[in-house]
Amino acid sequence: MANEIKAILHNHPHFYGPCKIDSETNMPEWSAGEWMYSLYNQAPNIRGIIEYSFKKNIDILTLSGCQAHKRDVDKSIQNYFNQLSALKKDFEIEYHLDEGFANLFKRSSGKKMVLISGCEIRTDHQGRTADINVIGIHPGTYIEPGENIDETVKKAKDLGALVTVCHPNSANGCGIDKAFGLYNKGLVHGIEGFNAMASETENEELGEALKEKGMKILAVPDSHHYTDVNIAYSIFPKELLENFSREKLIENVQQKNFEGILNQLSFSRRFKTHLLPMGLSVPMNLIKNPRYFIKFLKSSIFPKKDEPKIYN
Ligand SMILES: [Zn+2]
Repeated sequence: MANEIKAILHNHPHFYGPCKIDSETNMPEWSAGEWMYSLYNQAPNIRGIIEYSFKKNIDILTLSGCQAHKRDVDKSIQNYFNQLSALKKDFEIEYHLDEGFANLFKRSSGKKMVLISGCEIRTDHQGRTADINVIGIHPGTYIEPGENIDETVKKAKDLGALVTVCHPNSANGCGIDKAFGLYNKGLVHGIEGFNAMASETENEELGEALKEKGMKILAVPDSHHYTDVNIAYSIFPKELLENFSREKLIENVQQKNFEGILNQLSFSRRFKTHLLPMGLSVPMNLIKNPRYFIKFLKSSIFPKKDEPKIYN
């Protein structure tokens, strides 16, 4: 690994969920799912996340927010970036917030890590929920979810971010054909080829399809707890870290200067950090906002795959 660096491009340090910041206390108000999750998973702060990632020799760490609901804005990443100043004693911090990242240098060793602000956005592809990943966006910038996938990726690219299609053949994915369509038209820079949270079958099917097209496997953990972040990642040449910029990251992805390290997250971890809190949050969300939530569940469970969406 001497000339290579480890990059995490899709990772939720905590259970994702829209979270508002309380204007008086400046603390996040957690959603039902996050509250349930916190009953049996330790909630991290930025120090815990950064220190763990340094320990695991991660060089580029993306913190991914999640814009799945039109109703609420996920401000967790903005909140993490705001907490960074508390680490000044142990880390020298160089902010490049307009490019959506900060360079962190550990004072005791001089070791560098790039912390990227990212966001997974749930778009619409012909009535089907389709997630995309925006990597390197100002932590305070919000892209509206639920809009047409082509329009959303254009918006994200115009902001200068690295834009990829998330887990195209999983639930909340746009489908493999659409992912290739977006890639071939130059609307996205890359396609996630391996997602540690997806099933083995999904990853195999996707890997085959990408290989057939001569594409490389961009691997991401997409984990939902900061201690699962090191499971799957992509390695890039060391030069990328030395003079990191968003443009250089995009260039490396486009020139296929990376290799995917593929490890599936165990079912028990996926269950504990994702499936269970999602399931537990259903009754609470139903009580809080029944009409909105039933509509959301319907579109996630029964995606209208081929019919175009009708607008009145
Ligand atoms: Zn994700």
